[in-house]
Amino acid sequence: MQDHIALIVAAGRGTRFGGPEPKQYLPYRDRTVLGVAVMTLRPFMPVVCVIHPDDCERYHSATAGLDLLPPVFGGPDRQASVRNGLEALITNPPRHVLVHDAARPDLPAAVVLRLLEALETHDGAAPGLPVTDTLKRVEESRSIGTVARDGLWRIQTPQAFRFSTLLNAHRQASPGKFSDDTTLAEAAGLRVAVVQGDVRLEKVTEPGDATRLTGTDIRTGHGFDVHQLAPGDGVVLCGVYILHDMALVGHSDADVGMHALTDAILGALAEGDIGRHFPPSDPQWRGAASEIFLAGARDMVSGRGGRILHCDVTLVCEAPKIGPYRDAMRAELARILAVPVGRVSVKATTSEKLGFTGRGEGIAAQATATLALP
Ligand code: MG
Repeated sequence: MQDHIALIVAAGRGTRFGGPEPKQYLPYRDRTVLGVAVMTLRPFMPVVCVIHPDDCERYHSATAGLDLLPPVFGGPDRQASVRNGLEALITNPPRHVLVHDAARPDLPAAVVLRLLEALETHDGAAPGLPVTDTLKRVEESRSIGTVARDGLWRIQTPQAFRFSTLLNAHRQASPGKFSDDTTLAEAAGLRVAVVQGDVRLEKVTEPGDATRLTGTDIRTGHGFDVHQLAPGDGVVLCGVYILHDMALVGHSDADVGMHALTDAILGALAEGDIGRHFPPSDPQWRGAASEIFLAGARDMVSGRGGRILHCDVTLVCEAPKIGPYRDAMRAELARILAVPVGRVSVKATTSEKLGFTGRGEGIAAQATATLALP
């Protein structure tokens, strides 16, 4: 006997969402809403989807390459669809079944673990969140009273049950009456636990959620750069001039910190490196202020509709001392990147007198940049 099986209900037409494509088949991250929902549950247990007979082609392309149990056709409403799914499992019944809505694709693993734990002492368990908004009773667009929200929770899915108990409850329930399985189970006298849910489990139901469907692509890039030191009258690091008895050698102003950061941003965009966009062979960059390169990378991020969430630069040198200039460097990088200074970090370390940085032959810099792309 299987311990657990997940039943993903994906038979709805998504009429509230509008548009020709049912919402569970809309693009989400690199897959579809349903594809992501399946992938979050598949590591824990076998998955069977309940689908609409018109969606066979959509279903197969959304789940290509995923190892799933054969899909089951849904009925005229959610209750009937779940029942069809349960009935299809009776030849090889699991001990527990998790009934999940395809329209809640972001399922944290912790929620699954809480549900399975609660099933040890209850007939069923569902994730929920306490209501925090003020609740009004409204008639003809006018508030006619406030509803006390004490003890009110919003119930999410997956909803977990002992399989045979839920199947019996479904067989005895009046058709078309229950909007979810906890309601049906309670009507049958079962004991249902509510465990801590998660805001990421919010259901995609309204057209405004279309922006959420596109998701946000969070990316981190890394950059590294080195420039040689030679006798001179100062260095420019992260846009700040520091008086020193050496200077950095390079085609531009050799601002090693800004170069590493520019490369980190380009890396997060997967757009090559600083040399590709600003070739050292091009005379126009001779002696250039490195602000041009960093601003160029910044504009590539905004050109893609993204924004810079955070960056972190580490300078590696024995001298000059960076500490007194660190806040000025952060302010200068924040100004160029057009982000709050709290999103920019500059750190420094020595290399314990080891290697070329330790001998004062050059300065190295490392950087990371984290971006949000649509
Ligand atoms: Mg460089």
